[in-house]
Amino acid sequence: MEIRTNYAADNYTIHVDHGILESRLANYSAGYDAVHFLVDHNVYELYKSSVLSFIDSPIILEGGEASKSFDAFKRITEALLERGVQRHHLIVVVGGGAVGDAGGFAAATVLRGVDYIQVPTTLLAHDSSIGGKTAINSTHGKNLIGVFYRPKAVIYDLAFLETLPDDEMLSGFGEVFKHALLNNEETVRNLMAKTQEQISLDVLKPFIIRGIETKMHYVLNDEKESGIRKHLNLGHTLGHAIEYKYKMPHGIAVVLGLYFMMFLSNRVEGRELFDLDHFKQYFIHHGYPIQKLKSIDEEEMMALMGRDKKNQSRGAIGFVLMKSIGRCHFTEIENTELKKYLSYLKESL
Ligand code: NAD
Ligand code: ZN
Repeated sequence: MEIRTNYAADNYTIHVDHGILESRLANYSAGYDAVHFLVDHNVYELYKSSVLSFIDSPIILEGGEASKSFDAFKRITEALLERGVQRHHLIVVVGGGAVGDAGGFAAATVLRGVDYIQVPTTLLAHDSSIGGKTAINSTHGKNLIGVFYRPKAVIYDLAFLETLPDDEMLSGFGEVFKHALLNNEETVRNLMAKTQEQISLDVLKPFIIRGIETKMHYVLNDEKESGIRKHLNLGHTLGHAIEYKYKMPHGIAVVLGLYFMMFLSNRVEGRELFDLDHFKQYFIHHGYPIQKLKSIDEEEMMALMGRDKKNQSRGAIGFVLMKSIGRCHFTEIENTELKKYLSYLKESL
């Protein structure tokens, strides 16, 4: 399966399938004088004698978020320069969203930009590898140092997903679910029916592809996030606060945020848009800690949400809510109101 971006220029292809990495990559690397691989440590350990055995001496990045530190950035760029990276070389970044962000940022900045290809290896990275955002973290917060820099291709080999730990599957599935909500009611109904008992990789492929197409739709129409790209933030306002407070994987916290979005949308619309019980049972069945919402501290959550860089007005917090599944709108809710809604949410659980 191939999806092509539709920008005015600098388009790229997203390849999604099982067992495609080596053959697809060969088509691209043939056009470059040399190829440098940046690979997530955990992924390399798992696949060095199989899917990644064709790679000769990669630069190994710390697994996960540790790759997004300043120190890691220094090591990656110095290693590339040590190996003689040049403008007409290709960098291939293999790993989850963290290594994708860090490797993409290194590719964007070394020699003022070298072509790169993303090879995402987590379920969440069906989201993070699309859209051209790259970044590393500062001591002041996540993703504060970065640039927009499009890859030359994304090669999403679903074979990697077989070794994902359970909580990483749940985390990635949170974004798959968000994309289904952004899509339409039928996609949500199908997704829930196909994953009623368990979230198995066998049924996810069409939803992953749908998710990529959905994300792309928003990004193509608003690359720099001045308008509708904000809708991709569905569930993320409270989600980010929960992720920060409870140190849970991003997409798991996003599911808790999506549940609050459903609760709020019902309240704001004044009708039962979402059958909350139905969603709650489904999320809990799969292991999402919805009950955690019962013990949140309203003041603390509001202080954390108030720090969100997407807020515009003082005394209010911006949310993406729904009028129906597939139809979002951005709205600001005053702090006093919001505090009440958070208390109602706790009482309802
Ligand atoms: P991650 O990259 O931290 O990976 C999670 C863990 O899984 C790591 O320990 C990693 O080593 C391991 N792993 C990766 N692939 C594996 C595999 N196939 N088998 C077994 N283990 C594997 O986490 P993530 O959830 O993929 O990405 C989160 C990051 O993505 C965050 O840093 C976030 O800021 C970023 N992100 C970026 C964007 C964007 O638009 N650029 C969007 C969303 C999230
Ligand atoms: Zn997210």
